[in-house]
Amino acid sequence: MQDCIFCKIIKGEIPSVKVFETESLVAFNDINPKARVHILIAPKKHIESIKHIQETEKDLIGEIFLAAKKIAEEKNLQGYKLLFNVGREGGQIVDHLHLHLLSPDAISV
Ligand code: AMP
Repeated sequence: MQDCIFCKIIKGEIPSVKVFETESLVAFNDINPKARVHILIAPKKHIESIKHIQETEKDLIGEIFLAAKKIAEEKNLQGYKLLFNVGREGGQIVDHLHLHLLSPDAISV
């Protein structure tokens, strides 16, 4: 997607602080953190939101959660929140699927 900010981050065209990467996803620090740790985990493939996922993408969705668990373990987080905003009415601003990992003292985003 030409104008997608997260696609540009994934391609390295916009700087970001990457904390984890696999063949299919990337995790980077949120530029405007709402908690001490605020990481976004996004698939490299452009999928607009949870509303747009297909049956064939269930492994990818599982990988996103496993990446969250791995990052939390690496950072020794005792507790955290995982959140998908879905659609404008759900608070989604960036139309590229991403899981928020927030810890601790996370506030709503
Ligand atoms: P959402 O409201 O779920 O779409 O969340 C989008 C998130 O992306 C917000 O928390 C923003 O702070 C974050 N964000 C926007 N632009 C960037 C960027 N260039 N690098 C890192 N995070 C960003």
